Amino acid sequence: MIDFLVIGGGAAGLMAAIRAAERGKKVILLEKGAKLGRKILISGGGRCNITNHKNLNLRQFLANYPRGQKFLWSAFSRFGPQDLMNWFECHGLKLKTEDDGRVFPASNKSIDVLETLLKTAKQFKVEIRTNTEVIDLSFDPLGVLLENNNLITASNLLIACGGMTYQSTGSTGTAYKWAIKAGHKVSEPKPSLTGYLSTDPWIKNLAGLSLKDIELKLFSEQVLIAQEKGALLFTHWGITGPGVFKISSLAANKPQKELYLKINLFAEEKTDQLKTKLKNYWQAHSKRKVINCLDEFVSERLANYIIESVFSNLQKTVSEINNKEFGLLISYLSELKININGKRPSGEEIVTAGGVCLNEIEPQTMASKLVKGLYFAGEVLDVDGFTGGYNLQAAWSTGWLAGNSII
Ligand SMILES: Cc1cc2nc3c(=O)[nH]c(=O)nc-3n(C[C@H](O)[C@H](O)[C@H](O)COP(=O)(O)OP(=O)(O)OC[C@H]3O[C@@H](n4cnc5c(N)ncnc54)[C@H](O)[C@@H]3O)c2cc1C
Repeated sequence: MIDFLVIGGGAAGLMAAIRAAERGKKVILLEKGAKLGRKILISGGGRCNITNHKNLNLRQFLANYPRGQKFLWSAFSRFGPQDLMNWFECHGLKLKTEDDGRVFPASNKSIDVLETLLKTAKQFKVEIRTNTEVIDLSFDPLGVLLENNNLITASNLLIACGGMTYQSTGSTGTAYKWAIKAGHKVSEPKPSLTGYLSTDPWIKNLAGLSLKDIELKLFSEQVLIAQEKGALLFTHWGITGPGVFKISSLAANKPQKELYLKINLFAEEKTDQLKTKLKNYWQAHSKRKVINCLDEFVSERLANYIIESVFSNLQKTVSEINNKEFGLLISYLSELKININGKRPSGEEIVTAGGVCLNEIEPQTMASKLVKGLYFAGEVLDVDGFTGGYNLQAAWSTGWLAGNSII
């Protein structure tokens, strides 16, 4: 009899399979693709940001998960970021931590992460079957139905099929229907960690420009739905970058109509401080033309857009700026509006918000409360985090816990 049947050879499935096999269980892992870990390979721009070591205080670490914060407590207590780093180093993978806390393989190559997992799976005799798509589940007896109509039964079954992003990696959302068949609820999958499209003509001209430490506020039908500080990158299609990703994550389950963003380029200063700063500078440079009035404060391409929007006469000097122009300039600097015409094409987001609802899963084991022997792990769950290694950490931890819990 097979002890543990794992569906999905991503981060969660591989970690679960290895942990159960380490414990002496007979494990089979089924992967529909020709290769395992396709999402691991593309993660972190091909470097694979496996976790984050910036703040290991559990409460603060969990603050990086807009969904699943409470649920992940047990998984991270049992197998958290430090345990994961120890695990990889014990299995021969050298790691490095960058200044912002993101942890990568020292080689900067995601393939080294995958190879460490595959080598360990082999060492503990996990039976891996690639090109093997699960078509349906059976609950009595517990098992899976394959394309050739073969039924494989097992004492325990893990669904680790991922979410619905980058579908070319195999995560196509097929597992949600099995969860529903098992009686579980599934919260509607929505894109998270995504860029926004904008057809505002000035955006295109700023392609490549990055703004750091700004404040971003997202509005839907004029109601503020998400607010965050961070970085923004202009592209030829719209806006992206860590701050934009965070905003998209915080707003994932909010209404998304008539979206626009307001950004404050001086997030660290109150409006009065900004006004004083500009006035003081202009007093010391009173002969300066308005076209150069933001030289010290804002990058040239963005400054040109703002100045051309505010002033009709670019030849006047800063001492000639009137109150109306000054007010308008301040609002451009502190509430620069970007109209949004949608998100990046579906499937290109980094992670799925939504998935199998958490109240029907045991957080201490990842077991279904509804079907004995059924487990869930990874992105298929209604759990998602910000960028920085948090999504993979959730996959490793929930996978490890499932593999550690099966009887
Ligand atoms: C471009 C990109 C970059 C990212 N970078 C990072 C990063 O640097 N750090 C980070 O923390 N997170 C990152 N993420 C997110 C992270 O990679 C995922 O959250 C994580 O890999 C999910 O792991 P998983 O095991 O749950 O699912 P997946 O990796 O999606 O694995 C699911 C597996 O199940 C298989 N499967 C599905 N259905 C079936 C079936 N019916 N039968 C058999 N097999 C099936 C699939 O083929 C797939 O191999 C990134 C995501 C993307 C898209």
